[in-house]
Amino acid sequence: MSYPKPDDLLTCPYNKAHQVERSRIQFHLEKCRKQHPNEQKIKCPFDATHVINRAELDACELEVAMTLSLANRRARAPTQRAAAPSEIMLGFV
Ligand SMILES: [Zn+2]
Ligand SMILES: [Zn+2]
Repeated sequence: MSYPKPDDLLTCPYNKAHQVERSRIQFHLEKCRKQHPNEQKIKCPFDATHVINRAELDACELEVAMTLSLANRRARAPTQRAAAPSEIMLGFV
């Protein structure tokens, strides 16, 4: 199978055979959720289009934390970086 625009297609968490356009995923998730009432899935607090098992929430939080710290790093000048706490304690900064 070939997907011309893979970035625009999301895999439905309820049925991996469902490839849904990003713009329609929220509508689709509502529909699919009703068809799978036994699935213990929750909406990701970080991404409304992300439906996950509760056990996956930790991985999501980690991913968001990493994305944020990457964004912060990009926003800084290239020569600057956050000092590790151990370096601060040792007086290297
Ligand atoms: Zn679906
Ligand atoms: Zn998520």
